[in-house]
Amino acid sequence: MTTYRSYINGSWLDSVSAKTAPNINPANINDFIGTAQLATREEARRAVESAYNAFKSWKNTPAPARGRIVAKAARLLEENKEELAQILTREEGKTLSESRGELTRAINVAEFCAGESRRMNGETIPSELPANFAYTIKEPHGVVACITPWNFPIAIPVWKIAPALVAGNTVVFKPAESTPGTAVRLCEIFIEAGVPPGVLNLVLGRGSEVGDEIVNHRAVRAVSFTGSTETGIKLYQQAAKRGIPVQCEMGGKNPVVVLEDCDMDLAVESTAQGAFGSTGQRCTATSRAIVLNTIADEFVQKIVERAKSFRLGDGGDPESHIGPSVDEKQFNTVLKYIDIGREDGATLLCGGKRAEGESLENGYFIEPTVFDHVTSDMRIAQEEIFGPVLSVLRVKDFEEAMIVANDSDYGLSSSVFTNDANDIFRFVQEIETGMTHINSPTTGGEAHIPFGGIKSTGIGAREQGSTSLDFYTELKVVYVDYTGRKREGNLY
Ligand code: ADP
Repeated sequence: MTTYRSYINGSWLDSVSAKTAPNINPANINDFIGTAQLATREEARRAVESAYNAFKSWKNTPAPARGRIVAKAARLLEENKEELAQILTREEGKTLSESRGELTRAINVAEFCAGESRRMNGETIPSELPANFAYTIKEPHGVVACITPWNFPIAIPVWKIAPALVAGNTVVFKPAESTPGTAVRLCEIFIEAGVPPGVLNLVLGRGSEVGDEIVNHRAVRAVSFTGSTETGIKLYQQAAKRGIPVQCEMGGKNPVVVLEDCDMDLAVESTAQGAFGSTGQRCTATSRAIVLNTIADEFVQKIVERAKSFRLGDGGDPESHIGPSVDEKQFNTVLKYIDIGREDGATLLCGGKRAEGESLENGYFIEPTVFDHVTSDMRIAQEEIFGPVLSVLRVKDFEEAMIVANDSDYGLSSSVFTNDANDIFRFVQEIETGMTHINSPTTGGEAHIPFGGIKSTGIGAREQGSTSLDFYTELKVVYVDYTGRKREGNLY
């Protein structure tokens, strides 16, 4: 059995705290994987201080040299891909093929960021004065807090830590409580890649304790967060008091709009993959299918058939299509939302309960669930569930479909299924989401393409892709006067 420790100032820490948290396989609660030592507030402060002390030397390390370390981390992720995928599946529950996919994303992101280290260009700008010019330099903030959730416990930390390091920041990484194994292994990989002591610190512990301590520490100059809306807004408020930048990626309530001119089988398969893949535990998961009345019966019959065809099971079993909810709390939340859907008058077509079967009884498995005749005012159409639950909302035409699709505080991802080019472009123009997909699922994204949402989903610069370093850099403007004499007159 493994003990997970925090990593502070170049050493694995034996915490003075007596608090620990068990790491349990959600597919089989009798599979006890290890114990995390939870750090104290004082230890979290030490992590920030160590990052603060390491900052100057890391900032002065040439960006391409920092990039080379991140490139090595990408190679090590590749070399250890299978082992990491196994750890991920065992502690988070997703299937091995989903875990491998997550690893691929993490590797691609790290490679991309390493390349960006040679492109940290500013600009030179001509002055209106003779023998003068100006230029800009991209500089790091200092200590950056990276606070991450459990659903992509390798890819999300990598898409925060890699650009933060490449930009020259030092990092305090606070992962979710339920995925300490992947956090520790990821940290080991960055250490092996050559990240110097203090430059990357890992703090295991409760968000309300160590997370709170880190975010409110005076030396932390920026906070990058992915997680629930409630926590994100709280961190945003706290950071605002100190005037520091925040990047929050929060919930989603992602719609697919299915129009008459669609390829029905494609629409059904993409919706099913988007809704039930990764057990619905993706911020980009499809949670609302908005379908024209004229084709709704056919869509509903096919999606129910597909939902019933998924095989639930331990993610480590290659026969499994869908793994369990991550833990008891999440499992109960999903079941609670299913009850709310019923009480609010939606029609439950399939699923709606704990999955039964010999190999499932010790895990947090929920049957893929489809509700029909959901209306936009119902809680299951408005609140993020984060489980394998799909709501079908029937509408009369394109106009109503767009009103319903945009009737959400969230704005992360969306899809439209149609072969009518006019409707595609109208959809792209009208949909209020940060990312949208044409004839493909709401999920997924590529490492070199910006990722993120609008409305209450996203705050601050987009992560990944061409925008990935924006959040982690500030601009310094330099004026150079090479006339060698006192300036005559005033320049403004
Ligand atoms: P989820 O429901 O996905 O776990 P949370 O928003 O609760 O989402 O958690 C996401 C991350 O934020 C986790 O690492 C968690 O420990 C951390 N966190 C939770 N509360 C706070 C807080 N008050 N301050 C800082 N971090 C927090």
